[in-house]
Amino acid sequence: MSTRLRIAIQKSGRLHDDSLKLLKDCGIDLKNGINKLKTEADNFPLEVFFLRDDDIPEYVEDAVADIGIVGENVIYEKNRAITISEKLGFGKCRLSVAVGRNEIYTGHQSLQNKKIATTYPILVERFLKEKNISAEIHEISGSVEIAPGIGLADAIVDLVSSGSTLFMNGLREVETILHSEAVLIRHPELGAGQQHLLEKLLFRIRSVRKARHTKYILLNAPNEKLKEIIALLPGMKSPTVLPLAEAGWSSVHSVVNENDFWEIIEKLKSAGAQGILVVPIEKMIL
Ligand code: ATP
Ligand code: MG
Repeated sequence: MSTRLRIAIQKSGRLHDDSLKLLKDCGIDLKNGINKLKTEADNFPLEVFFLRDDDIPEYVEDAVADIGIVGENVIYEKNRAITISEKLGFGKCRLSVAVGRNEIYTGHQSLQNKKIATTYPILVERFLKEKNISAEIHEISGSVEIAPGIGLADAIVDLVSSGSTLFMNGLREVETILHSEAVLIRHPELGAGQQHLLEKLLFRIRSVRKARHTKYILLNAPNEKLKEIIALLPGMKSPTVLPLAEAGWSSVHSVVNENDFWEIIEKLKSAGAQGILVVPIEKMIL
């Protein structure tokens, strides 16, 4: 059988859609049947396993899958012999301590001798040890946010993104233990064939991610202002300048970072640029 790369992704849940979208944006088409346990790609030697996110580090450690996509929070809690290859920029959240809205909290020492409910006992234990606090950890498997309300715990440690779940349960976030996002993990020792395929995939992932943050910009500029306008546009090498049919004018093409493009656009306009177009870039090969 020819060499294939086996990737484990979440079967359903918060990372499922973005993981599939990343593969799709990398030009990888999966055969129908994402409701199955596994599927394969039509146009890349890739086999995809759909699993519970908690199990993904173990499957990669045991070399049942070569690589996987999972939140950093799961990796640090599971403590498996796997390697993080690449941050993926989605599934961002934080593992935080929360207490009742009206509870007094003056710092982590307020957790001394308290009961803390969590699904992340290892990370909580590590945090408490670092801060030299002794507290009772109650490991529960879900709906942690209701624990204080029913008298099971004084505080919780749970994943938070917007904070609305905490708010709805009368809790307030008081401390962050860990920032997390989805990452690509790999078995520490891959065969040469798998290693080569992983490098191909990583090259595509980096091109897609780079493009997501970058826009292509086109504008018209009077020739006497070109120097000033070009100085505002970094570009991949330097901007492309083409003469317009109308004498004395040029078209300038470049790429800009999404984070600073509003500011650049204002400067371009005041420098005399006209007809500014900003368009998305699908892939960016550097
Ligand atoms: P599974 O059935 O696969 O075990 P799950 O219920 O454990 O799923 P999800 O709630 O789907 O997990 O979350 C998957 C991952 O998404 C988390 O481990 C975390 O890395 C990330 N995530 C991002 N935002 C949040 C959030 N607000 N709450 C929980 N997880 C989040
Ligand atoms: Mg899970």
